[in-house]
Amino acid sequence: MFLTAHALTAAVLVDRLGVHSTLWALVIGFCSHFVLDAIPHGDEGLDKGKGFVRVLWTWALADGLVLTAMLFLLLPRVPWILSLPVLAAMVGSIVPDALQAVHHLVLPLSRYMRFHHRCHEYFGKRIGIRYGLLLQGGLVMILLTLFILTPSA
Ligand SMILES: [Zn+2]
Repeated sequence: MFLTAHALTAAVLVDRLGVHSTLWALVIGFCSHFVLDAIPHGDEGLDKGKGFVRVLWTWALADGLVLTAMLFLLLPRVPWILSLPVLAAMVGSIVPDALQAVHHLVLPLSRYMRFHHRCHEYFGKRIGIRYGLLLQGGLVMILLTLFILTPSA
């Protein structure tokens, strides 16, 4: 799943749970990543095939730009998005995919990669990238609605 969906989900989660501990928010964000990854989401196979590193970096750059743009758009109406626990949750939700980059570029983390892969395959179903983008776009729209229309915990 894309970082935008992970980070916004983690932000809403810790806010709605009323988590004020930065450490717990980080842990919740980290764990929420694997739960979301279990839902078929269309981009599970981006880290395979010839030239996958360049493909991954391209998607990650676009994803990071979308997330940054959304945070800037949300900030005037949702100032708590920059609270420490919410930021920690968003960082925690991104760490699992950053560890994938570490595995591919710096240090093999084979056991971790097997676990992450098993999360992607949890339901044994896959959908195409187009449906995945629709699903994740829908999720992001719901999260944005929650951010803007409902009060913080
Ligand atoms: Zn992941």
